[in-house]
Amino acid sequence: MPILYLGLGGTIACTLGDDGLVRATRGAGTLLAEVGSPPDVTAEDMGLGASSDLGFDDLLALAARLERAFGQEGFTGSVITQGTDTIEEVAYTLHLLRRWPCPVVISGAMRHADLPGRDGPANLLDALAVARSPEAAQLGVLVVMGGEIHGAAAVTKSHAQSPATFRSPDWGPLGLVAERQVLIARRPPPPLLLPATRIDARVNLLRIVLDTDPALVEAALKADGLVLEGMGGGHLPARLAPLLEEAVAQGSVVAVTSRTGSGPSLRRTYGAVGAESDLRGRGILLADGPGLKVRIRLTLALSLTPRPDLAAVAAAWL
Ligand code: ASP
Repeated sequence: MPILYLGLGGTIACTLGDDGLVRATRGAGTLLAEVGSPPDVTAEDMGLGASSDLGFDDLLALAARLERAFGQEGFTGSVITQGTDTIEEVAYTLHLLRRWPCPVVISGAMRHADLPGRDGPANLLDALAVARSPEAAQLGVLVVMGGEIHGAAAVTKSHAQSPATFRSPDWGPLGLVAERQVLIARRPPPPLLLPATRIDARVNLLRIVLDTDPALVEAALKADGLVLEGMGGGHLPARLAPLLEEAVAQGSVVAVTSRTGSGPSLRRTYGAVGAESDLRGRGILLADGPGLKVRIRLTLALSLTPRPDLAAVAAAWL
C-alpha cells in the first residue's frame, strides 16, 4: 500500500529562527523522519511557504501530481501537509476537481516544532493511517487534524490558535482516528464534479454588512463572478438589489449565500426587496454553504467550457 507524502510548508514545517519568529524550514523527508520514516511512504516536497501564498495554479499542479501518483506510479493513497490557513480551500478545490480513486488526506499543525505540545507529528501519523485505510477511499478529499476526519465540503478553520480549530459545523466530522484505527461514521454524498484543467475565471467574494458601501459592490462586480455573503438566510440591503440586477442584465454572474457559516440559505420565506425571492427574480443565484466554498465552485464552473448549470453549482453545497 504505497503512500505518497507531499509537503507544502506551513506551521508543521516551521522552526524558530534567531529573530524569535518562525518560518517553514523543514521538508517532507524531515517531517517523515520525525514519525519514524515508515517504509511504505515516499516523501516529496512541493513547496515550503505559508499557505496564504497558494494560488489555483498550485492546486492544479497538486492535482496533476496526484493523478500521476494514482495512475502510472501505483500509489494507493496520499497525504499532503500544508499551512492550516487555507486547508479548507485547498481540500475543497481538490475535492471538486477529480473523483479520486484513493484517499487524499490533508493535514498540518497549529503549533510549530519548537513549541511544547506541538501537534504536527501526531497529525501526520493520523493522516497516514487514514491514507492507508481502504475505508477512506470514495469519501473525497479529507482533512485530518486533532484525531478527527473531516470532509472537504463541510470543514472549516474555526479558531485562530487552538489545535482543535477544524470543525464541520453542519454535521460534524466524518470519523475519528483512535489508537491509529480509522473509524468512519458517516459517508457524505459524492460531490459535484467540476473537472477544470485551467482555472482562469476570477470570482470575488464580499461579505455584506450593516450599511455596506455600494461602491464596494460595484468594484467587486469587475470580475467574471461575484459571491455575496448576505445577512441571515441570505438577505441584502434593498438598495443593492437594483445595482445587482443591472449587473446581471449586463452579463455578470452574481450569487448570494448566508454569512452565518452554516445551514442552507432560504428559498421561499421573505417577501422584502433584497430577500430571497426578490433576488431570484432579478437573476441572482441563490447559493448554499460558506462564501469561501461557493466562490471556489463558481470559479471552477466559470473556468469550464461548456459552462455547467450555474444555479445547480451555486446550490451544490453537500
Ligand atoms: N501561517 C500558516 C499557514 O501557512 C499557519 C498554519 O500552518 O497553521 O497557513
